[in-house]
Amino acid sequence: MQPRNPTRPIFVGDDRTGIIQIGGGIAPDHPLAKGLVGESTIAPISVQTMTAGYTHTIDKCVAEIHKLTSAGADIVRVAVPEKKDTEALKEILSQTTVPIVADVHFHFKRALEAIEAGVHKIRLNPGNITDRAQVEQVIDACKERNIPIRVGVNEGSIIERKDKQARAKELGAVFGENKHGYMMAIMIAKLEEYLDIFYDRDFYDIAISAKSMDASLVIDAYTEISKRFPHPLHLGVTHAGPKETGCIRSVVALGTLMANGIGDTIRISYANDPIYEVEDGLELLYTLGKRERVGAELIACPTCGRIQVDLFSLVQDVNDKLNEEIQVPMKVAVMGCVVNGPGEAEGADVAVFAGDRKGIIYVQGEKVATVGEEEILDRLLAECKNFQDQVRSGEVKLGEKKVDIVPPDPEGELGSGWEKMAATRMGHTSLTIDGSAPA
Ligand code: SF4
Repeated sequence: MQPRNPTRPIFVGDDRTGIIQIGGGIAPDHPLAKGLVGESTIAPISVQTMTAGYTHTIDKCVAEIHKLTSAGADIVRVAVPEKKDTEALKEILSQTTVPIVADVHFHFKRALEAIEAGVHKIRLNPGNITDRAQVEQVIDACKERNIPIRVGVNEGSIIERKDKQARAKELGAVFGENKHGYMMAIMIAKLEEYLDIFYDRDFYDIAISAKSMDASLVIDAYTEISKRFPHPLHLGVTHAGPKETGCIRSVVALGTLMANGIGDTIRISYANDPIYEVEDGLELLYTLGKRERVGAELIACPTCGRIQVDLFSLVQDVNDKLNEEIQVPMKVAVMGCVVNGPGEAEGADVAVFAGDRKGIIYVQGEKVATVGEEEILDRLLAECKNFQDQVRSGEVKLGEKKVDIVPPDPEGELGSGWEKMAATRMGHTSLTIDGSAPA
């Protein structure tokens, strides 16, 4: 894991929403550290998302922003394609408690209207707002209100089709050996050209994005951009598709970049409810150790031919309940048998190991109960809540005692449930205990 790249920080929000810092750590004597007071620390990587509904339907938009904020979004972006959308912003801002970004394309006046309404950040697209005088008006308005701007050179909108051949010839040699060389050259050239307008206006509160649906281009483009521009990077794979494939594309690209120290704020994009973008973005940061986990971390065995309860259903139910009830970052393990379960659950604060349609429950290595399969969920949750109370009161510490469990004799205390399991068939929809297709 590489240390984070230093950048010039930007600040998004106000006294009411709280201020989210993005990036930081630029050397005070760097030419682009102009106007910053002292040395800045590097902020934790933030999670962004975008509302899926129309901004001008104020009540629905506010409800969606509240939902995304509750799920853990640090910043929420809204589209403002029409004047009725920017007209709705003032009311939306008064009813929400998270920094709001206005996503502007084609019409620079939408940016001016959004700034006037009090929005906390603007996203501009150099591919469709190109007139220098218009860009200057937006920059000046942001400067006056101390609002940062994200410059997003997405692959889909950055191509200047009218001079594609000329640009390719001019820039093609720069990244000649890279299969994405042409597109990377276009993105970087466009950024240089666009940011010159900002620098000429003495404006430096900038974030950059360079999204594509191609994860390998995203990795290469952001890597090259991070070497050239000391501004915070907003990472994302755009048009990533449905959640299933979008998750893989996003995690590969964003995970690789963040492991290399690149990236200051992320947005995962799905053709689905944006709440999944927030949940998966947070989980990615927790998994990489980039953010301190909020809530329980669930460890579950992958199941195998030794499984002794309907683990797929149990894991899903436990996951849902933990999300609802547990805010302390305890480790909880759900294991399908007692043979390898204890080893695989090492480090868990609360664990259950299944056997013969029963479960034995441990809290920090101490066996606290043996219950029937139908009681596992409730008892496990009760133990987790009790443990959470003890952590909060300072009676116990997270991860204090490692799981050190001598597995019970599967033929003794728990017995072998194999035959019973095979006879009654587990509740999986796609799997049966004997491997045959479900009826
Ligand atoms: S805990 Fe048991 S059932 Fe689960 S994968 Fe390990 S050996 Fe298989």
